[in-house]
Amino acid sequence: MVGIIHVLCKGHPVFDQYVGGATPAGKSQNPVQYVDSPIDRTLCACGCGNQTPAGRHFIAGHDQKAIHERIAK
Ligand SMILES: [Zn+2]
Repeated sequence: MVGIIHVLCKGHPVFDQYVGGATPAGKSQNPVQYVDSPIDRTLCACGCGNQTPAGRHFIAGHDQKAIHERIAK
């Protein structure tokens, strides 16, 4: 598979957050680490207004709250 490489430029949220700055990862012997980036966070889909952990649509337990509210309607 042939892919297209997109170089991040100034103005991209990831570029602006990390390029030229200190590493967001702590010291480790592992050269590759995943970090919990504020860029990946979104607002909880239940409507509570809180930020979710990276890659999540809901804060833990808020998905059940949203389901029960929907059923009640
Ligand atoms: Zn919520």
